[in-house]
Amino acid sequence: MTRFVESTITFPYKRSLGPLVGAFMTALTERRILGVRHGDQVLVPPMEWDPATGAELAHDLVEVGPAGTVESWTWVPSPSAQHPLRHAFAFALIRLDGATTPLLHAVDAGSPSSLDVGTRVAPRWRGSRVGRIDDIVCFVPGEAPEVEGEDAGPAEEPVTRMDYLASITYTNPVPPATDRAVAATLERRLVGLGCPHCGRVYAGGRGHCPIDAVELGPDCEVELPQTGTVTNFSIVTPVQYPGQTETEPFVRAFVLLDGTDVVLPYSPVVDLPADQVRVGQRVEAVWAASADEGEQGGMGGAWGALAGWRPTGEPDVDDPDLVNRIF
Ligand SMILES: [Zn+2]
Repeated sequence: MTRFVESTITFPYKRSLGPLVGAFMTALTERRILGVRHGDQVLVPPMEWDPATGAELAHDLVEVGPAGTVESWTWVPSPSAQHPLRHAFAFALIRLDGATTPLLHAVDAGSPSSLDVGTRVAPRWRGSRVGRIDDIVCFVPGEAPEVEGEDAGPAEEPVTRMDYLASITYTNPVPPATDRAVAATLERRLVGLGCPHCGRVYAGGRGHCPIDAVELGPDCEVELPQTGTVTNFSIVTPVQYPGQTETEPFVRAFVLLDGTDVVLPYSPVVDLPADQVRVGQRVEAVWAASADEGEQGGMGGAWGALAGWRPTGEPDVDDPDLVNRIF
C-alpha cells in the first residue's frame, strides 16, 4: 500500500486594481454590480480596453442586474477546497439584466435538475464584504438578492488593491525506500541503494536505478559514510514573505560522501556561519534527537533525523573537479 503525502505551495501577492476594476470591487461592497458602456454594449465585469481591438474605452460605468439569466452552466458534483461552495453547485455564465456579456459565477441550485439555460438567478451577497468577486457568495434561483448573515455595510474607503493567495495542493507517493532511509536516520545511519547491475549507489530518489530501469528493494540497501566534502553551496537570503520562518542568511550545501558517488543536495550546515562555507570543506553528519527536529526533506529527499553537516576541521580537499559534482 503506497503512502502519499500532501503538499501545499502558496504564493501570496497584492495587485492594484486600476480605475475600473477598483470601482467594480468598491461597488460590490455596496451590493451593486457595475459594467462599462462600449458603444451599444455593456461589458461586465468592466474593462479598461476593448477586448476585440485593445482600444481604450471611456470609463462610462453603469449599474447592471442584480438579477440575470443563465446562458450556460456546468455542474460541479464534488467541490474541491478551492471551489466557492462546500457542496455541489454549478458554474454558470450569467447575463445580468442590462449587460451584453455574461459574468462567470457560481450558482447554488441544489441539483442540476433545477437549472436550465434561461433560469433566472440573483446574487447571494456576503454579509461582510471587502471588495472581491466572492463578495457575491454565489447566485441563487429567483429574482430576489439575498444577504448571508448580518449586513456589515459597504467598505469605508474605495477598494484599490486586492490581496491574492495563489495556492496549489498536490499529493505525491512516498517510495518505500524513502521511509526505510528516514527510519535508518533514527538509528543515526545513512542508507542508500546500490544497483546490482551498474554498481551505482543512490540516496533519495524513487527506489529505482534510472540507468538500468530496475527497482532497488531492501536487499539493495547499503550503508553510507557519514563524512564528506562540500562540492557546491548556496547562501539563501530570506525574503520575509508570509510563512517564511528564517530571518538570517542560511546555507544549503551539496555534500559528496566519502568513497562514493553519492551527493546529498541542498543540505543544511551546522556550526558553520554562511560566510565561512567553502567548496572542498570537510564535513560530518550531525544528528537531531528525532525526525521531527531534522531537516524535513526540502528539495531532493527526506533526511529524517539528519540535522545537517558541520566542519570536521580537516584540511580542505583541493580538487577543481569538485564543483562539477552537483548530483
Ligand atoms: Zn544501475
